Amino acid sequence: MRFAENEPEFYDLTNMTWEEIKGALETIKLAIIPIGAHEQHGPHMVESCDAVLAEKMSQKLAARLHPYALVTPTVNMGISPHHMKFPGTITLRSSTLIAILRDMVSSLKQHGIQKFLFLNAHGGNMSTLNVAVTILTEELGVEIYCAKTTASAKKAISEHVKSALFGHSCEREVSEALYLAPEMIRFDKITKGQIKEGGRWKHLRPGKALQGFYRYEEMTGNGCIGDATKASREIGMKIVEEAIENLVREIGELLDLNTKSIY
Ligand SMILES: [Zn+2]
Repeated sequence: MRFAENEPEFYDLTNMTWEEIKGALETIKLAIIPIGAHEQHGPHMVESCDAVLAEKMSQKLAARLHPYALVTPTVNMGISPHHMKFPGTITLRSSTLIAILRDMVSSLKQHGIQKFLFLNAHGGNMSTLNVAVTILTEELGVEIYCAKTTASAKKAISEHVKSALFGHSCEREVSEALYLAPEMIRFDKITKGQIKEGGRWKHLRPGKALQGFYRYEEMTGNGCIGDATKASREIGMKIVEEAIENLVREIGELLDLNTKSIY
């Protein structure tokens, strides 16, 4: 499968016949499972944002790892109870997400795949996915890795993302969308997060001494954080490409792939 005429090829399970898959399984060593969310993304991005970004990143990664990787159907809902006060959000329970992943991994194992990457674009999924990796590795006897799509792009993020607060429909995420899926953006609505001054959330943000559950409306009036008006396609490209390079390198080493054909 190709994104377009001039784009590289990758194995896309959703768009292959069983005969094509049978042939591809002779080289495939890794199934990439894109995992997203269906949740509000402020006034300027659609609810499928995380699912689409996870899928696009998975396709890019599979193209770089071709013919050793396959992209599975996207898990397009995730753990989003903290966004439920905003219209349209659908949340899974952690047990549901783990159950879906168990059945996907188990099915693909029956077709001969032993190694899996959960490529996740939604921070709210991470704690559940870490549990899923532990449970399913033990239970199914497979090898599972998990990555947050662009979290490893530390250089590009520290050099280019200037907002003090980012992580949701923000400068970083809108930049990634500008590069990977601009059709998700309402360009006439791009705006800063309406951050609330007081509240528990300030004590519970990632990196603070305490962690705990808080709802997004405690932190932001319009559902986004950071300053998406500073986003650009250029920043998105740097973040995405640095993350893909990191993932290709790490997976190449872990799976002992023929790196000459990849790098
Ligand atoms: Zn998002």
